Amino acid sequence: MMQIYGVDVDAKGRCVHYHLQVDIVALKCGQCQKYYACYQCHDALEKHPFAAVSKDDSAPVLCGNCRQTLTFDQYQMGQCPFCRHAFNPRCRLHQTIYFK
Ligand SMILES: [Zn+2]
Ligand SMILES: [Zn+2]
Ligand SMILES: [Zn+2]
Repeated sequence: MMQIYGVDVDAKGRCVHYHLQVDIVALKCGQCQKYYACYQCHDALEKHPFAAVSKDDSAPVLCGNCRQTLTFDQYQMGQCPFCRHAFNPRCRLHQTIYFK
């Protein structure tokens, strides 16, 4: 099973910063290639700032509920195409941090 990194991450990938029922998405850093619960967790635990990944990456997002990797387009659908768990629509506010 793919590991989700972060501060106080629970079984579904929620962290100390984002812990609503819908906050289950983990995002891959383009530099260390680890899936993090959020960029704040990443920057607290790594020595480099979170590096955005290309929207064309084959697996930029990981669903914390079913641990399937998703493409950017699948992530944009607002829910996981594998387990149907809803994603937090407010994540879009941070899209420029996570994707390029
Ligand atoms: Zn990194
Ligand atoms: Zn976090
Ligand atoms: Zn899922």
